[in-house]
Amino acid sequence: MTQIEIDEYWMKQALELALKAQDVGEIPVGALLVKDNQLIASGWNRSILDHNPTAHAEIMALQQAGQTLSNYRLLDTTLYVTLEPCIMCAGAMIHSRIRRVVYGAKDFKTGACGSYINIMEQAGLNHYVEVTGGVLAEECSSMLSAFFKMRRTQKKEQKRQQN
Ligand SMILES: [Zn+2]
Repeated sequence: MTQIEIDEYWMKQALELALKAQDVGEIPVGALLVKDNQLIASGWNRSILDHNPTAHAEIMALQQAGQTLSNYRLLDTTLYVTLEPCIMCAGAMIHSRIRRVVYGAKDFKTGACGSYINIMEQAGLNHYVEVTGGVLAEECSSMLSAFFKMRRTQKKEQKRQQN
């Protein structure tokens, strides 16, 4: 398999995880960590459910990976996530010493890998994470836009019922 095929394979798994978030009313974002072509951790966005502003998919996966590896450094791992990481998640990835991050859809409002701000290429960092963006970007972003469209429709319907 080529690197692109490998990346697409894992991104498809991340999309499955994003659906788990969507099923419980969370913004559909899924993430997983791979080491030596093995899945070592997975997570999905659960901020609302957990009353936890830091419970982004990437953080959930990083925390689980730390437990799996019994190490706070996640060396030689690749994180796959359906949406470009935010500043918090990009920071957590640098602290984790992951080798590479692969994301799907760009996020122009909060993306910290170049779309809103580029944390990953900030001068003077003590660790650099290799970034690959746009893997299965269309699938990833259409899942998000379908979710937001559905939520807008639900809100309109609620308003209509209140009036
Ligand atoms: Zn985040």
